[in-house]
Amino acid sequence: MLSATAQELRDQQECGELSSVEITSVCLDAIDEHNEKLNAFLTFDRDDALQQARRIDERRAAGETLGPLAGLPVAIKDNICIEGVTTTCASRSLENFRPPYSAHVIDRLRNAGAVLLGKTNLDEFAMGSSTENSAYGPTRNPHNLDCTPGGSSGGSAAAVAASLVPLAVGSDTGGSIRQPAAFCGIVGMKPTYGRVSRYGLVAFASSLDQIGPFARDVTGAAMLLEGLAGYDDRDSTCINQPVAKYSQTVDQPLEGLRIGVVKEYLEHDLDDGIRSSMATSMDIYRSLGAEVKAVSLPHANYSVATYYLIGPSEASSNLARYDGVHYGHRSSEFDDMIDMYCASRGEGFGAEVKRRVMLGTYALSAGYYDAYYLKALKVRRLIRNDYDAAFQEVDVIASPTTPHTAFQLGVMSDVPLSMYLSDLFTIGCNLAGIPGISIPCGVGNDGMPIGLQLMGRALEEETLFRAARMFERETDWHQRRAAL
Ligand code: GLN
Repeated sequence: MLSATAQELRDQQECGELSSVEITSVCLDAIDEHNEKLNAFLTFDRDDALQQARRIDERRAAGETLGPLAGLPVAIKDNICIEGVTTTCASRSLENFRPPYSAHVIDRLRNAGAVLLGKTNLDEFAMGSSTENSAYGPTRNPHNLDCTPGGSSGGSAAAVAASLVPLAVGSDTGGSIRQPAAFCGIVGMKPTYGRVSRYGLVAFASSLDQIGPFARDVTGAAMLLEGLAGYDDRDSTCINQPVAKYSQTVDQPLEGLRIGVVKEYLEHDLDDGIRSSMATSMDIYRSLGAEVKAVSLPHANYSVATYYLIGPSEASSNLARYDGVHYGHRSSEFDDMIDMYCASRGEGFGAEVKRRVMLGTYALSAGYYDAYYLKALKVRRLIRNDYDAAFQEVDVIASPTTPHTAFQLGVMSDVPLSMYLSDLFTIGCNLAGIPGISIPCGVGNDGMPIGLQLMGRALEEETLFRAARMFERETDWHQRRAAL
């Protein structure tokens, strides 16, 4: 049962072979057994989860029509608010924060019948690529406990990869769903900016943040996104467009698919295994009738620099609220008000968050704004234009999700720039606002999973799911499970 996909678990409940209480109990037992070594979950409440499951089973028994995620356990990244449930963002500053309301996605998941299983670990305020920036200790990669699961949604990715839960929700500002999905050998998607409401997602960089799904296979991710996406007037950037029935079309192959491989990305220093998996993956698409050709994103190499001005600038503004008065930890020792702010923020935030707040404040300050923040916004437009031009020629853009496989814990934590470069291939989607999916496509020489990233035009998630599923059907990388 632990290795079953979301769809299998849904079907088995529908035909009465399994109950939600049975599925949920198995997940909870697996968490009890493995969470200590993985540190994927920060919070879980056995009684509450079982009660949600029991309620679904009762409603099913009463013949009620249930939602599409009925009875399926889902883990939630701990930067998404659930009313009354501790939401820490893996920060000391929010150690005791219990939100007075739930995020839009939480209401949607409840309506769809999902069982909310617990809250997962992340890099503090989603800033990082390894989950090592968590104030509550790092998460470990289930494929090799000495390696990171990636980040910032490392807890959600590790929980799915370790079969603790079939589905999980993450957030992606520069790669935080796709990079951990690649490192953990599972499927993860960042939807179009505005596809999913950010109401109740604790803001990191508001023009880039987006919530999305993790699953063991493409169909599971399609099912979960269908549950998450939908218009919400409480997020002014949420798009008021119908949500396609991704899970119903996912098995339809695309005729005449044109795939563009990003030329600039392949000029980088890539692991050998990643380069060869990328080539093999494109051969598989060719054998399925797709046309594969090179495309150019001429400004791609500016994406990391652009992101690390815009992201921290927005973060420095968003995180101003954690002053110990409006929100967050308040120091118990201070002389005056300014000292209280300094001490509270100094004690509440970790090193990476402080680094971002300082970088962002600098980039936004009078005299530097035009040279840094404004310039970055202009380059962001050029990056977006590159994608628009490439999508004139192809339907989907392909690249490796990451330049290397999962790295060992500790090796990058003191070298922020090398850590930032892990997101070289994922940041472009966030800057351009377009969707991207990562699917398992191989293993490296180190035995660690490799991810293939497919990027699509805005609101063309359906194309990405169908293209990804075409590949998945021909391969068994998604069936490879971590042995704990
Ligand atoms: N790793 C990137 C960063 O550190 C992206 C994080 C994210 O997508 N939340 O900002």
